[in-house]
Amino acid sequence: MLATKVIAMPEKVQPKINSLESALHEWEKAVGRENVITDTAKISYYENTTFKTSQSVSAILTPKNREEVQACVRIANEYKTPLYPVSKGYNWGYGSRVPAESGCVVISLERLNNITGYDEELAYITVEPGTTFRQVYDFLKEKNSNLIAPAIGSTSAASLIGNALERGVGQGIYADRFQHCCNMEVVLPNGEFIQTGFGNMENVHSKNIFKWGVGPTIDGLFSQSNFGIVTRMTFWLSRKPAYFQAIFYTIKNNDQLEKAVDALRQLKLEGTLTTASIISNSHRILSMKRQFPWAEVKDDNATLPQRYVDELEKNALKGAVWVGDDAIMAPTKAIGKARAKRVKQLLGAVVDDMIIINDRVARIGTMLWRPIKALTGVDLRELMYFFYNSTHLGIPMEKQLSVCYWRKKTPVPANIDIDRDKCGVISLTPSVPLQGSHVIKVMGIMENICRKYGFEPNLGLKTMSERHLICVPQIIYDRETPGQDKKAMDCYNEMLKTLTDEGYPPYRLGVQSMDKMTSTSSEYVQLVNILKSSIDPNNIISPGHYGIGS
Ligand SMILES: Cc1cc2nc3c(=O)[nH]c(=O)nc-3n(C[C@H](O)[C@H](O)[C@H](O)COP(=O)(O)OP(=O)(O)OC[C@H]3O[C@@H](n4cnc5c(N)ncnc54)[C@H](O)[C@@H]3O)c2cc1C
Repeated sequence: MLATKVIAMPEKVQPKINSLESALHEWEKAVGRENVITDTAKISYYENTTFKTSQSVSAILTPKNREEVQACVRIANEYKTPLYPVSKGYNWGYGSRVPAESGCVVISLERLNNITGYDEELAYITVEPGTTFRQVYDFLKEKNSNLIAPAIGSTSAASLIGNALERGVGQGIYADRFQHCCNMEVVLPNGEFIQTGFGNMENVHSKNIFKWGVGPTIDGLFSQSNFGIVTRMTFWLSRKPAYFQAIFYTIKNNDQLEKAVDALRQLKLEGTLTTASIISNSHRILSMKRQFPWAEVKDDNATLPQRYVDELEKNALKGAVWVGDDAIMAPTKAIGKARAKRVKQLLGAVVDDMIIINDRVARIGTMLWRPIKALTGVDLRELMYFFYNSTHLGIPMEKQLSVCYWRKKTPVPANIDIDRDKCGVISLTPSVPLQGSHVIKVMGIMENICRKYGFEPNLGLKTMSERHLICVPQIIYDRETPGQDKKAMDCYNEMLKTLTDEGYPPYRLGVQSMDKMTSTSSEYVQLVNILKSSIDPNNIISPGHYGIGS
């Protein structure tokens, strides 16, 4: 039976006098005084991200459960004080906790951090917004689970739900997280809550394993939008392969890169490769290994002398300029070997060097790294580290976050916090067909624009499916160097415009550009706005997020 409860939409109200003050008072009653934060130091942390923004935050609320979230939303409606929900707020490179518009009260869902459901056989986990990637990894480990925890290239302190709502791309088989989730519990702008898919009916056995339910499907309305606050979601997990192999390969030039991308498409479409493939350029590899050589280059605005890249390419990469990182997930050794053979045939034939590591190779490589290095010049220790800590297997890794400190003059700290440390990071992730010719064109545009503005071209790509990938340039700088904030944003804006004009808009936006990217179809915009104004007439939830209700 479909639920028959009528959802009352909030009345459009006039703001009350002293509405923020009165609302704060009401919120204190609803969630407790200590969970309504107005302390200027904490607020200024929430107003700060990895690039320059000017949006102000009025206060921070930290409710502890769905009921308290509902109460906060009702009060926000009554006093017409907009809320900006974040789960953990590690939206690094895209705006962290900073709202799209000034004057919002941030509602941080970090205290809703329970794992509320888990099924080993059907391979899913149900979590609240404050649940982190690390938490799920530890939980599955403790259960001795055969399931792979979701992982991303960012901090493992980030939220599964926050990441999925931005339609983030992780590692492994279910890298496109929003494709592989269901049964969302959402608090609507009127304070009521709903569940999506079969979650909206009582007693349905498949509510956590089937996304669509019956009738219209509305999950998508709650991602990259502002139609509600998600308080619970189910994520599907893939199983650990019985036979895991890591693939590393190098690419010497654009011709090889183009062919490699086409080979990846073929291997994915036929089902040989199933995880998200990653390719990084030598600048990205270098910034993972070390920081900018400030001891030798004294000018704050100088670009990296080419010899540093040349040295890395010549010595560690044997003349290559790109490095590929992939995995073969196989249920048996025989299937794994057959897949490895196929990968060598298609991908191995077009790239420069390729190594496929299984348990046995890793054991030998670890024991014999010294003589192997003496004989071939190749230091296998790093590859072994990536094999044993593979994010393809869901193992959280923070190592790659050191790239954000590339231009800092202080060393990378043990407890990384790129907001606190004023690392400049602006991410832009154009959506690109999984075809070599497109990749070459997009990489060329990104590299030229980075160089034009004096930034090292820190470039990579990640496949999202068998036919789609995102390119991942990051503009990395030091926010403490005068003038760099502006230069970096100019660089970003030119890249955004050029890529969009060329047919490669980003798949996800940062808070600085939500008003710059709108649909070119006025009918589409009108429909979204009609939905917003009927569900949220007071524009209470995240006004201006993705340009909606601004
Ligand atoms: C070096 C580096 C590597 C990175 N690698 C990756 C990567 O591999 N994959 C990737 O996807 N990202 C990556 N990121 C970007 C980012 O760090 C992650 O996407 C991270 O998961 C986002 O933070 P969060 O999960 O804490 O989400 P939050 O910051 O909590 O949420 C993100 C946004 O979603 C909305 N939102 C959050 N929760 C809710 C809710 N409950 N209801 C309604 N709306 C909500 C809000 O608008 C919020 O701003 C990387 C960043 C850097 C700097």
